[in-house]
Amino acid sequence: MGEHNANNFSDIEYVFLDRDGVLNRSLPDGRFITRWEEFELLPGVADAIAQLNRSGRKVMVVTNQRCVALGLCSEADLLTLHERLRNQLTQQGARLDAIYYCPHDAGECNCRKPLPGLFEQAFRDFPGADVRNSVMVGDSLRDIEAGARMGMRTIFIDVESEAGSRSPEADRSTALASAVALSLSDCVQQYLSPRGYE
Ligand SMILES: [Mg+2]
Ligand SMILES: [Zn+2]
Repeated sequence: MGEHNANNFSDIEYVFLDRDGVLNRSLPDGRFITRWEEFELLPGVADAIAQLNRSGRKVMVVTNQRCVALGLCSEADLLTLHERLRNQLTQQGARLDAIYYCPHDAGECNCRKPLPGLFEQAFRDFPGADVRNSVMVGDSLRDIEAGARMGMRTIFIDVESEAGSRSPEADRSTALASAVALSLSDCVQQYLSPRGYE
């Protein structure tokens, strides 16, 4: 057995969330979300984050947004979108403790997941956070690889689980992740419910 049980998350203090496909609905065909009008929070997300808040855990977003490098939106547009996301969550009683994003194109930086830069920024900003008390929650292989390379536990949000055909990436993510959930809401219910009630 390793130093921790991969399927026991009760000691998790820091929850890292991917954005597109975890918090909000991804657009078809890998299109980028560049405007608030395209941003649709998924069902149960605000409640799930509020539960994490109440359990005393820190909730941080780590998101690749190469739409900035591609010129599809500006960094200011991205910040505005994240401000509106925070406002919408606040109205529903939920709070994000930090949002880290990579605006770069592939091969340009050390922060595009699965590279470690966004997590390293977070660990500098939150000195209590480390790979042993953090979990990465994401819907792509890139997210699960990022967490696994760091030595963190990972939870794969399997959005294809009810679709007819599965991609090889989803199968690899399922195999690599510490645990699998159907949605952020399901993830919190199954693995990160408020401590004292589990
Ligand atoms: Mg995603
Ligand atoms: Zn980057």
